[in-house]
Amino acid sequence: MNLKKPPARTLDLKRTEVKLTASVNSNDKVKTALFKFTCCAGCQFALLYFFHQLPETLELLDFVYFKMAMRKELEEPYELAFVEGGVSTPEHIEQLKAIRSQAKVLVAFGACAAHGGIPSIKNWQTERAVEENVYPDPLLVSSIKVSPIDEFVKVDYHLRGCPIDEVEFMELIRSVAADKSPYIRGHPVCVECKLRNNICILLMREGVQEGMCLGPVTRAGCRAVCTSNMRACFGCRGPMSNSNIPEMVRTFMGKGFSAKDIEMRFTEYAGLSAEFSEGARAYYGRKTPYYHRKAA
Ligand code: SF4
Ligand code: SF4
Ligand code: SF4
Repeated sequence: MNLKKPPARTLDLKRTEVKLTASVNSNDKVKTALFKFTCCAGCQFALLYFFHQLPETLELLDFVYFKMAMRKELEEPYELAFVEGGVSTPEHIEQLKAIRSQAKVLVAFGACAAHGGIPSIKNWQTERAVEENVYPDPLLVSSIKVSPIDEFVKVDYHLRGCPIDEVEFMELIRSVAADKSPYIRGHPVCVECKLRNNICILLMREGVQEGMCLGPVTRAGCRAVCTSNMRACFGCRGPMSNSNIPEMVRTFMGKGFSAKDIEMRFTEYAGLSAEFSEGARAYYGRKTPYYHRKAA
């Protein structure tokens, strides 16, 4: 058999993928505002939990706006903005641009802001079908396709995951407060999974949904929390650097997963990224996806 040598692949493991272009005053607490667009608000809920676990958070950040935690309206200026949720109305676009014009550092806060997240599932149906399914009178609705926030404004950092990870959050705010670039992981969840000595469920649980693991193509940073609890990675942190999507699809097909299974797994959290969109379309060979954008 004439087996062709596969092309060499490189892992993007450099410590930072983005340069800190903004600067915050490291002598003072960083004036911070947290905004919410289309999402479940689970990432800001997770942040409340981090305050409890990591009091250092409140030594570094001075929240001037955080609806879930404070009654205060937004009156003070801020330097650091966390934006949770995707954009799904024309008003969101204007609000987001106003936030960008004020913030020195803007962070996409969680999977919905970074990749569209679960709300972006609606992009894979026509807008009319979604509206008719959800609203009694769709004529009153003015929603648009869900988009990650960097579709409209420059984003300095992406805190990925559904919800965000506490270690990664602390790394980010310590770096921002010290005017340094944070560590951005480019490697896959598999690395963290093997570091935890997990048995591979993709190999072990053949043909069942629980074994349909996207870890080989998903960006690390969650310490493989799902696979360490015998649950497949659903790809909530979006694609890793240089992911081999065609091989992932071939692996799933070889294990007997259906076209629908594969499409659903790739579109659950980050289906708008170029890479996972490719995975979702691979089986069907769709030429024109409902929505497609380059990776965050
Ligand atoms: S990323 Fe997940 S937890 Fe965070 S807001 Fe979106 S759906 Fe909720
Ligand atoms: S269980 Fe998933 S993340 Fe863990 S090694 Fe296997 S494929 Fe990778
Ligand atoms: S294992 Fe996968 S689905 Fe689970 S938190 Fe990590 S990236 Fe998200």
